[in-house]
Amino acid sequence: MSHAVPSKIDERYSRQVLFRGIGAEGQRKIDEARVAIVGCGATGSALAGLLARAGVGRLRIIDRDYVEPSNLQRQSLFDEADAAESLPKAVAATRKIATFNSQIVVEPKVGDLVPSNIEALLEGIDLILDGTDNFETRYLINDYAIERSRPWIYSAAVGSYAVTMNVLAGQTACLACLFPDSPHGMVETCETSGILNSVVNLVASIAATEALKLLVSLPNPGAEAPAKGGDFLAALKRCATQNHLRQTLLSFDVWTNEHAEISAAKPRPGCRACGKRDFIHLAGEGRPHITLCGRNSVQIHERQRPIDFAEMDRRLQPHGTVRHNDFVLKFWREPYEITLFPDGRAIINGTTDAAVARSLYARYVGS
Ligand SMILES: [Zn+2]
Repeated sequence: MSHAVPSKIDERYSRQVLFRGIGAEGQRKIDEARVAIVGCGATGSALAGLLARAGVGRLRIIDRDYVEPSNLQRQSLFDEADAAESLPKAVAATRKIATFNSQIVVEPKVGDLVPSNIEALLEGIDLILDGTDNFETRYLINDYAIERSRPWIYSAAVGSYAVTMNVLAGQTACLACLFPDSPHGMVETCETSGILNSVVNLVASIAATEALKLLVSLPNPGAEAPAKGGDFLAALKRCATQNHLRQTLLSFDVWTNEHAEISAAKPRPGCRACGKRDFIHLAGEGRPHITLCGRNSVQIHERQRPIDFAEMDRRLQPHGTVRHNDFVLKFWREPYEITLFPDGRAIINGTTDAAVARSLYARYVGS
């Protein structure tokens, strides 16, 4: 009597395959799937770690930032050596994943996801996950995902609060159904309001589980030409109804224990994105214009974000030197100098890279 020796891959995923929601067929689909994680900070790290261990066959990690010591409290794929070397997060994450799952393919993409490169960066992807820290990029992902009938999962966390929602094109509400416009005025960011690592892991665990439910329901994840149109929408519908996929905007605060669910089961009639199919963010119209200004400065032509200088001064105090009068606020954080105007316009001195400027703005002002 011969005993089949289980292959390494079988042994690795055996406990997950035993779970009846996954099974051998589900594991095969997970192995064939291609998932993009946009933004690899705290939430992106946790999502990438969970899905890499679960055996998602191809992960594309897109991030514009570099590892810093202040990331280590919550960004679980990075260590002190990565921060000392200021490695790009996408590269550091890929190296770390290779130490615990060398059987999957991880593609690091160091850069800012913008309208001009979204096509190339998300090509052939079955599912898009949100690890970003700003609405600008989320609206761009939403437009792309609706236009292409790709599923995506929105996740966000700040302080002790997190929120997440599955967006299935044409089946559920999209981000623009619930939030037609990006937030105006002062926005909380992890840099200015802080963040608990536990709320990040909670929201990432929920989103990663929804991702697995989706992947095991897709007709043929990883296919050269992913299913489109009617077949794909029908599959998403089956997936939503048969596979317990959540159809709400879920929010919770791990400190106050408040939680809420708002129905997101149906698209909002008249929604700009999924109703009228007016993809302004994909067309590059929904974002502030950015220009080079001077020898070593970038200007962000935002005008929709009235700034309370006294409050901004207070928030930025722990991070550098801040000065303001009624007309201008200046914030120095080596090697950058940020000049902020009352309508939200900013000049960032110390770089000519729009991605760096955008990242600094998202972290310290909010976008
Ligand atoms: Zn919509």
